[in-house]
Amino acid sequence: MPKPNYRVITVKDSVKITPNMQRVTFTGDDLADFPENYESGYVKLLFSEQGGAIASKEQVEQEKHRKRTYTIRGFSRDGNELAIDFSLHGSKNGPAATWANSTKPGDTILMGGPGPTKLVDNTADWFLLAGDMSGLPALACNLEQLPENAQGYAVIEVVSEADRQDIKVPDGVSIQWVINDKPGEKPNALLDAIQALTWKAGTPYVWVACEFGAMKNIRAYLKDSRGIENNNIYISSYWKFDRTEEEHKVDKRMDAGAPPFIQVLWGIKAKCQNLLSLKK
Ligand SMILES: Cc1cc2nc3c(=O)[nH]c(=O)nc-3n(C[C@H](O)[C@H](O)[C@H](O)COP(=O)(O)OP(=O)(O)OC[C@H]3O[C@@H](n4cnc5c(N)ncnc54)[C@H](O)[C@@H]3O)c2cc1C
Repeated sequence: MPKPNYRVITVKDSVKITPNMQRVTFTGDDLADFPENYESGYVKLLFSEQGGAIASKEQVEQEKHRKRTYTIRGFSRDGNELAIDFSLHGSKNGPAATWANSTKPGDTILMGGPGPTKLVDNTADWFLLAGDMSGLPALACNLEQLPENAQGYAVIEVVSEADRQDIKVPDGVSIQWVINDKPGEKPNALLDAIQALTWKAGTPYVWVACEFGAMKNIRAYLKDSRGIENNNIYISSYWKFDRTEEEHKVDKRMDAGAPPFIQVLWGIKAKCQNLLSLKK
């Protein structure tokens, strides 16, 4: 298999934009050919087991590492600056959130990607966007690119009142903030808010990114009770309560309906990655 083409990127700035959201801005020569207009798409960042960064192409060959998925919140060709918003999850912080919480200008890290954008269909009659703090960066990218005459709702779950952000939205789109200080443990906060919305006329485009259990409940409601069809929805879990990203990936594949023998193999692979910290 060809080796991924990683970029070495350097922290230019790291700022807590709200109590539980750290915005890290990266720059560096390797971003000179980074494509524009990939906001809402994802990159993969490489971390060591202990929560440090894998900082060079040599280190990735030598050290055990963990890949973590993050959204491109912004990219500017002027200065080749790439912004990523990391939600901090307190005592549950894994390698990525631990690193983001303490990184400083000059630190370097390896990055793969970008992967495709996750944008709504702007021709829909109206829009419903929902997400927790892991989905907020991509949700905000979506809101910022909606047409001026867009109608609809954004329902955003954050850990505290102070984690609300100023996001530019068209006049016809209202933002409802849902406070949940135990994301994942209380998985119905977003669903309850979505169920309370007044459904508008016409066909909506629905965009949802949040915790796995919450996503499953919302998906069941949208498909079974609201009849949303597959081509009018992006719905994805971005993390799972009490599971690392490696374990969550296995659960996602099972949820997608992989054949049982493949599921067993994925389960074994994830266990090996966790126990032995294998590279792939
Ligand atoms: C396409 C995509 C885009 C994403 N974009 C972003 C983004 O821009 N910003 C962002 O913050 N996250 C984003 N995520 C989610 C992020 O990849 C996961 O939260 C990841 O697990 C964090 O890695 P970690 O090393 O901190 O924790 P892990 O080692 O993966 O997990 C350690 C523990 O932390 C818990 N945990 C993980 N994430 C959260 C969370 N968000 N809240 C509470 N507990 C958590 C796990 O349940 C586990 O118990 C995205 C995910 C996907 C699939």
